This record gives sequence, C-alpha cells and structure tokens, in this order.
Amino acid sequence: MKFEILTIFPEVIECYIKHGVVGKALEKGIAEVKIYNLRNYTRDKHKKVDDYPYGGGVGMVMQIEPFYNALKQIKKDRKPRKVILLSPQGKRFTQGVAKDFLEEGKGIVLICGRYEGIDDRIKTLIDEEISIGDYVLSGGELPALVIIDSILRLIPGALGDDLSAKEDSFMKGVLDYPHYTRPDEFKGMRVPEVLISGDHKKIALWRRKEALRSTLNSRPDLLKNLSTDDMKILKELCSEINKKILEGSHEPVNY
Ligand code: SAM
Repeated sequence: MKFEILTIFPEVIECYIKHGVVGKALEKGIAEVKIYNLRNYTRDKHKKVDDYPYGGGVGMVMQIEPFYNALKQIKKDRKPRKVILLSPQGKRFTQGVAKDFLEEGKGIVLICGRYEGIDDRIKTLIDEEISIGDYVLSGGELPALVIIDSILRLIPGALGDDLSAKEDSFMKGVLDYPHYTRPDEFKGMRVPEVLISGDHKKIALWRRKEALRSTLNSRPDLLKNLSTDDMKILKELCSEINKKILEGSHEPVNY
C-alpha cells in the first residue's frame, strides 16, 4: 500500500516513520510512504504557501495552488488512489474506516493543512474529508500519521505476529483485555492467577470476560450483536456487579 503525504513539514513525518512497527513495515516493503513538500510546488520565490483570508479575520489560509500542482504530479501515473483531506470537519476516523481503506486496496493521499486551514476550493480535488476526533490540532501531520499507523497494523506481516492486530481493541467488537508481564507481583499487586495457570482454555475465557468487562465499563455503546457465549458472560458480569452494588462495594460504572 502506498501513502503519499502533502505537507509543509516533511521532517515531522520522516521522523515518526523511521521507528517501531511503521519503520519495520516500511523496511520490509509492506507499504511505502512518499512525502511531498508543498513548498516545492509554489511559484512564490520565497516558497510561501499561505496568504491572508478574503473577508479579513485572524490567521493565514493555505493557498490551493501548491496542493493542485502536487496532486497533478502525483496523479501522472494514473494509479488508483483515494485523496483524503485531513480536517476536524471531516468524517470521524475509526478502526472500521481503517479496515475499509485497506480493503479498497487503493493508494492513499493525505493532505495536511496548517494555519486556519486550506482554501475551501481544495474540496474539488479530494475524495473524502477525514477527522481523527473532535478537537483541533495545529496541523494535519499527526492525523496523517495516525491514519498510516492504524492501517499499517492491519496489513498482514506488519506486526511480529498477525494475531496481535486481531486481538486489538475494536477488532472483535470489544475493547482489548488487560495485559500483564513480569514480575508476577509488584508492590503487593499480583497478576491474576489464571494467567500463570497454563490452562489455555481458562485463559481465553478470562480474557474474553475481561474484554467484555472493560467494554461495559468504558464503551458500552460498542456492545452490539453479541454471540450467545458473550451474552452469557455479560449476564454473569452484570450479576457480579449487582451483587457488589448490593454489598456497597462496587466502583461506579460509566453507563
Ligand atoms: N480552522 C480550522 C477549523 O476550525 O476547522 C482548523 C484548522 S487546524 C488549526 C489546521 C489543520 O490541522 C487543518 O487544516 C487540518 O489539516 C489539521 N487538523 C486539525 N485538527 C484535525 C483533526 N481533528 N482531524 C484531522 N485534521 C486535523
């Protein structure tokens, strides 16, 4: 899969993609990232890519021309790609959207804005507008990296063990189960016994139950279309919670 990024801060992207899962995946050739410095696509002799807003007001606005020129060059090879404008006003990015993008199998162009944003005519050059959440960042570089990282994790071979991605939060409709490592006791806190029991069936059941518990506590909205087994575990969890509430020993649940 190829990601192409339009930005005025190539170094921000370059730095992140050298490391960790993303760095290894790129080294293995599982995906490719190409960065286009928008300052190379302006006719301004000072490489300026922004200007004052029509109508007045605060801040600067990115001009459309550098984006137009960079996209024109990118599209010369006529390969199928999806052009995404990163914007707090876009459709919310989720694990589901990451999966859809990967399954579409097209290259992805990520357009990073800065300042007050980009001249609105940019919308004639894009396929989709994506937001990574209801907050405003100073630029599209972090959202671009969020999108690349989350899609890359889903590509077979990108992680040491492909199972890791399948077990991640949201992949099975619930949040991830809790993880522990050595030491088995730290300042009086013990790792749950079942995890050192060696009984893989019990461990799998415990993990599913804890994943459901965590989802019930933090994101009950995700609990949809559950299997009969999950419904059984959920009922068990609810009666445990009810019992604790009656005993007055239960922490409040956020639902
Ligand atoms: N004035 C714009 C607004 O209120 O919608 C915000 C512009 S923001 C300071 C500059 C750039 O950061 C945007 O053009 C966009 O590319 C990026 N950006 C900021 N927050 C984002 C978010 N939540 N999701 C995706 N991109 C974001």
